[in-house]
Amino acid sequence: MSHSSTPAKTGDRVRISCPGCGRHDFVAWPANQDTYAWKCFNCEKSFELHKGGKH
Ligand SMILES: [Zn+2]
Repeated sequence: MSHSSTPAKTGDRVRISCPGCGRHDFVAWPANQDTYAWKCFNCEKSFELHKGGKH
């Protein structure tokens, strides 16, 4: 459970960074979704994150 390899499994935790404030967090990203609606707990803004770290 403490492996830090690239998250590519289904339902695995994905490391994301807030487009607003740059805060890093881990989310349980569903494997069948290309985007993920996420609200930053730091700056309290909502974003639609894209898989693969695309901007
Ligand atoms: Zn933020």
